[in-house]
Amino acid sequence: MRIGVLALQGAFIEHQKMLEKLGVETFEIRNLPDLNQAMDALVLPGGESTVMYKIMKDQLMVEPIKNLIAGGLPVMGTCAGLLLLAKNIHNWEYPFLGTMAITAKKNAYGKQLGSFRTKATFAGINDVEFVFIRAPYIEMVDEGVEVLSVVDGKIVAARQGKQLATAFHPELTDDLTVHKYFLNMIKK
Ligand code: GLN
Repeated sequence: MRIGVLALQGAFIEHQKMLEKLGVETFEIRNLPDLNQAMDALVLPGGESTVMYKIMKDQLMVEPIKNLIAGGLPVMGTCAGLLLLAKNIHNWEYPFLGTMAITAKKNAYGKQLGSFRTKATFAGINDVEFVFIRAPYIEMVDEGVEVLSVVDGKIVAARQGKQLATAFHPELTDDLTVHKYFLNMIKK
């Protein structure tokens, strides 16, 4: 299995390390030609969604990535990656890739002080480590979207078909649960 990790900005190396621990080959996607490489899935890391989107736009990568996802390429978006996937962002003027039928709120916990760590349930698995950094949460999901985690009454992980989004950063912990779940999702 070979997974492309969007490497324009943010915590992409951490995703690569997690996936490599699970025996998966990864490569970095930095520009349009990189998207032509064979891949079984795509990871959109945490970072700053607006910055990532600007670079994607400048590199003419927006439509090609949307097309790959529409064509069924499995994708995992964490934190800023969740915002890239969301069809609606309540407190932002426009969606970024907008492929996933969720409404998200950017910087939903406040800016810097809103960073915290907790243990919660992910897809029925208890005691998974969650790290939130200036995180969004999901305000609403449309039909066809499965809620995978709720923390303090807010949806923080969801799945729609082959799209997986988490408001937290599974790549900034030693807990491989979410990445394992993603790999199973790819195989099915
Ligand atoms: N606040 C960031 C954004 O709006 C997301 C933060 C993160 O990815 N840690 O994109």
